[in-house]
Amino acid sequence: MAESQGFVIQNTMDEIIDGLYVGSSMAETDKEKLKSCSITHILTVASHYPPTHPEDFIYKSISIDDLPEENIIQYFPECNAFISDVLSVGGRILIHCMAGQSRSAAVTVAFIMQRDKLSLEDALQMVKEKRPQIYPNSGFLDQLELYYDLGYQVSANKPLYRRFLISHSAEHFKEYGSIEQVAAGADPSVHKGLPVQRLVRCKKCRRALVTETNILDHQAGAGQIAFSYKKRNSNGMDTPHAFPQNRACSSLFVEPMEWMDGVNEGLLENKIICPKCLAKLGAYNWAGAQCSCGKWITPSFQIHRNRVDEVRQR
Ligand SMILES: [Zn+2]
Ligand SMILES: [Zn+2]
Repeated sequence: MAESQGFVIQNTMDEIIDGLYVGSSMAETDKEKLKSCSITHILTVASHYPPTHPEDFIYKSISIDDLPEENIIQYFPECNAFISDVLSVGGRILIHCMAGQSRSAAVTVAFIMQRDKLSLEDALQMVKEKRPQIYPNSGFLDQLELYYDLGYQVSANKPLYRRFLISHSAEHFKEYGSIEQVAAGADPSVHKGLPVQRLVRCKKCRRALVTETNILDHQAGAGQIAFSYKKRNSNGMDTPHAFPQNRACSSLFVEPMEWMDGVNEGLLENKIICPKCLAKLGAYNWAGAQCSCGKWITPSFQIHRNRVDEVRQR
């Protein structure tokens, strides 16, 4: 046993499904035990754990800390591909982090969810039956739930995943004052194949600017809201497909778009101008801004409604 960060790491690994084990960093060092379980591959989901036996096993490492704000969902596709490749040729794999409770458990749950098309609760239960001490952190649980909502497809083409990345960037901005990662919405003037029900065009030149998936509704009134992708977080921000109902609000709030000047360069605030006729449409600010109804919205990508036309497509 080894003492680390105030709790004891046990040398344990448990077989969750045939050929897939979850374990601690101690388990990764125990060559005899790994050999006795016929392990062929090791997936490390942790920082600062270089392979102990690189000659004996095939390793893959994902560097990630066990913090709720870490983006672990971005790694699910490559981890799933690695795991299923190993299992499909009869290999046997150990997935480990430090304690074998949070990071390795999250990756394993994601793999089982996707493979068996299970909900988070069902997959979590399956893993817990074999390894009761698993305990993915709260941010990882939220991301596993998001993974289910995304239909197990982690893609910036999905509005819900873009919401996650935006709220992630906004959190990072609050903490560090800079923007880490922007998932800009596809430009409807460039990606013409997008299915569109409602389109917002520049009033002056008619250029297509945003579609319904890019618009975020909010309930008029005082208070603060932030971009959110969580269903359970009822903070007044509606689903990606919502369209503003409240005509009292003089602005549309949208997600960052590919055509917006400064978004990809990481500028924290800028004017929003029409890329075709250069008319001023609004402004954005990662620190947020207030709507005419009184609501404070973070981050704020604000287009004045009197500068655009909202048209319904057939
Ligand atoms: Zn408003
Ligand atoms: Zn224009």
